[in-house]
Amino acid sequence: MKIVKTIEELSQARRELNGSVGFVPTMGALHNGHLSLMQKSIAENDHTIVSVFVNPTQFLEGEDFHTYPQRTQADIKICELAGVSILFMPTVEMMYSKMEPTILAPSSKAYVLEGLARPGHFDGVLRVVLKLFNLTKPTRAYFGKKDAQQLYLLQNMVASLFVDLEIVPCEIVREDDGLALSSRNVYLSPQERKDALLLCESLKVATHAIIAGERDIAKIKTEMLQTLKPLHVEYVEILNRDFDTISTIEIGNSIILVCAKVGTTRLIDNLWI
Ligand code: AMP
Repeated sequence: MKIVKTIEELSQARRELNGSVGFVPTMGALHNGHLSLMQKSIAENDHTIVSVFVNPTQFLEGEDFHTYPQRTQADIKICELAGVSILFMPTVEMMYSKMEPTILAPSSKAYVLEGLARPGHFDGVLRVVLKLFNLTKPTRAYFGKKDAQQLYLLQNMVASLFVDLEIVPCEIVREDDGLALSSRNVYLSPQERKDALLLCESLKVATHAIIAGERDIAKIKTEMLQTLKPLHVEYVEILNRDFDTISTIEIGNSIILVCAKVGTTRLIDNLWI
């Protein structure tokens, strides 16, 4: 595996790759969720490039940009053992210049849900991912369904800016007890770790209601909110896969999204039905 730290090194290493290239962008502190994206990419492509870059433009003032968990040595080992071809670890200065065009995510889909609490977050995500696509020139790029709204906005960007690659959505990886893996789970105290299970519990409650025949979204949301009562809930939403509001469940075209604060840690989870 080549570890490259500059744009020039990456361009050189990229030129040496023949065949299809899968790309997995991450912010590091890699866990089994990230690993599953890498494994899918490795299985489906001749080569895989992983980036580890904590992107400042997607953090808001007062968020955890400066304290975001860093595990450089462990990240390198994980990528090496997985069979990654190139690990790209740039600095902020390399990725951004003082004067450059920016990209704005469509506000009707980017300033709701995650974007309501984090206005501008998705502008930063699209901006960095487009840069990374241009640098790595992948055949396919792998993103987790865990960040469902991000995935939707990236698919929209690729389609509308005619970016020549395939976005591959990947399933959410969970702990045995159901908690969705996240680099931010390390912030949780033992008690908060237990409380955090209420997010996936609420998704289970919704699933059971749907299996039992319930289709009314307002009723399902009420049941979920009941489960989530001990937490500070930011949103519970059931939308179609274009992130449009719906009033009844459309099997095969709906996403149930939940966001709650556990202590000071904001956690998200979702279920595609
Ligand atoms: P991050 O490092 O948090 O920016 O995440 C990098 C990629 O890993 C994104 O595409 C995430 O959606 C994906 N990811 C994060 N957590 C999980 C998970 N538990 N299961 C699957 N994919 C995940």
